[in-house]
Amino acid sequence: MRLPNWYRVETGGVKFYRAWNLQATGLVAHGFSTRIGGVSKAPYNSLNLGLAVNDDKEAVLANRRAFASAIGVDPKRIVVPKQIHSNLVKLVTESDAGSGALDHSNAIPDADALITNTPNLPLALHFADCVCIFLLDPEHRAIGVAHAGWRGTASKIVSSAIEAMTREFGSDPGAMLAAVGPAVARSCYDVGEDTAKALFDAFPHDERVIKQSTATKWRAGLKIANIIILRQAGLKESKIAFSESCTCCDRDEFFSYRREGLTGRMGGWMSLL
Ligand SMILES: [Zn+2]
Repeated sequence: MRLPNWYRVETGGVKFYRAWNLQATGLVAHGFSTRIGGVSKAPYNSLNLGLAVNDDKEAVLANRRAFASAIGVDPKRIVVPKQIHSNLVKLVTESDAGSGALDHSNAIPDADALITNTPNLPLALHFADCVCIFLLDPEHRAIGVAHAGWRGTASKIVSSAIEAMTREFGSDPGAMLAAVGPAVARSCYDVGEDTAKALFDAFPHDERVIKQSTATKWRAGLKIANIIILRQAGLKESKIAFSESCTCCDRDEFFSYRREGLTGRMGGWMSLL
């Protein structure tokens, strides 16, 4: 197993995580936020970045400004999709700048991964247990961010994102970098038969991804599943960073839909410089 290679940053009271491999290229600004350093009230306390969870809008916009400032991007230019647990990928360009930034109604419709080769266009996806995957093609200067819960993992959204980057930008998966962010760990993720079946179909007989834990429950490893997909797509193991953090275990640092139900969202944001 590779060593975990994310690190925590604190700036202006905002705590977030960065992946060493992405940061070391000097090509991107990126971060995966925690719940620490914002102004939202319970149950969204405090750095909720999601506009679609019924939090106070002005509080979310203040939180977004704080996180944007911490990672070094323009909050008015972020591109936010309406995430639907699909395998749909959207290529975004300059004309999409600011979509969903100030109001969720004009977010990019129905997409769980965004890709771009436009500089200074932050891709902004939101998470509460699901897996965030950052993709960077340093040769063609192109990026992608994907959101994978169990449905997106079973339908291999990150594979679709890599295929789209190859098609649109000429990206070679062997030269790409990826970083898999904090997400619910397998030890905290019991699922029922339908979810187990979908993951078993996508990853047959792979107990790292789906393993029975009781007569009626299975445990699902979404982070490892997405690393397997990245490897199958042609990424080199040495170019994949992964976070050990479990969003369900660490209640001080992370929102967790599984643990809390009504709660906030962390941001997985990245922009080409
Ligand atoms: Zn956990």
